[in-house]
Amino acid sequence: MLGSRPVLSSSGSVTPSFAFDEEIAACDLCGGRDFAILSSAANVRACVRCGYRFVSPRPSQAQIAASYSDPSFYSGWIDDDAGRQRMWSGRLDLLHRVGAGARVIDVGAGIGTFLAMGRDRYGWHGIVMVSI
Ligand SMILES: [Zn+2]
Repeated sequence: MLGSRPVLSSSGSVTPSFAFDEEIAACDLCGGRDFAILSSAANVRACVRCGYRFVSPRPSQAQIAASYSDPSFYSGWIDDDAGRQRMWSGRLDLLHRVGAGARVIDVGAGIGTFLAMGRDRYGWHGIVMVSI
């Protein structure tokens, strides 16, 4: 898995280089094979070597769609606003050290809090894309 990339066809469709429902055997970032369990309920793992966090087994597309379609999906997220603000604040400071002209893409931007904080603090410009 390490080093594999999605394939973009001439029609513009993307073929993922992984299988949904796949049990992750090696870290996608460093190839490490030792993982800590961060949440048994949500199947969240962390690579012991590099700290990368991921879900294993990977959820199916149907499971992902059902999760994002659940009206309560962001309730817990919104309830922990103070903790999340501290987390985003630290990450903004790290990114700001990269310097002027740097660009950021926030994939899976949730409700757009990180981008909004970047706008307020550093004048970032961005968009949040959703499908309805
Ligand atoms: Zn790793």
